[in-house]
Amino acid sequence: MSGRGRGAVAVAALWAVATGAGAFTLGDGTQIRCVVDLAGARYEVPEEFVGNGRVGERHPELGGSAAVVRRAEDGRPKIVFDTYMLDSIRAKLPLARDFVFLHECAHIQLATLDEIDANCHALREARRRGLIDADGEAALGDFHRRMGRLPLKYGTSGVKFWERTQACVDAPARDDEIHAGFPGEADTPFAP
Ligand SMILES: [Zn+2]
Repeated sequence: MSGRGRGAVAVAALWAVATGAGAFTLGDGTQIRCVVDLAGARYEVPEEFVGNGRVGERHPELGGSAAVVRRAEDGRPKIVFDTYMLDSIRAKLPLARDFVFLHECAHIQLATLDEIDANCHALREARRRGLIDADGEAALGDFHRRMGRLPLKYGTSGVKFWERTQACVDAPARDDEIHAGFPGEADTPFAP
């Protein structure tokens, strides 16, 4: 039932350029929202920012993650970002901070807890939206590789995580991947 055209339509609606409260500001100043088709309706995923950008102000609920997917009060997904962690990541590589947003949004877009799939979709979207070029991708790859050892769900290391992400990105996309929803409590391995 999900022909290629249908998948393309769904993908086209995944994000929107946005202004105003709640939007995520990319490194180039563009404000975007994570927009998904949730049970047939357009849903703008709420973004919440915690912490005031200083160490010691980390939100305990985030467990040291830069960002997590949680249920909002209405049961639908939201993304919670740690301002301190995001600022620290931006200091290393602004594109990596953008990628945190794309990665968390991908968890909701695909309703998946699979970290490779989320990262893969995030990178596809970054390419498709022209947010990343070859140099940016190389820098993002270095950023991944420097993460060192990681839990099994990320492939056990930053090197493997990036290898698997790239292998997935280069494989043909499956249309049946696209169905948004609350994936469970997803987090991100990205750290400064
Ligand atoms: Zn994740």
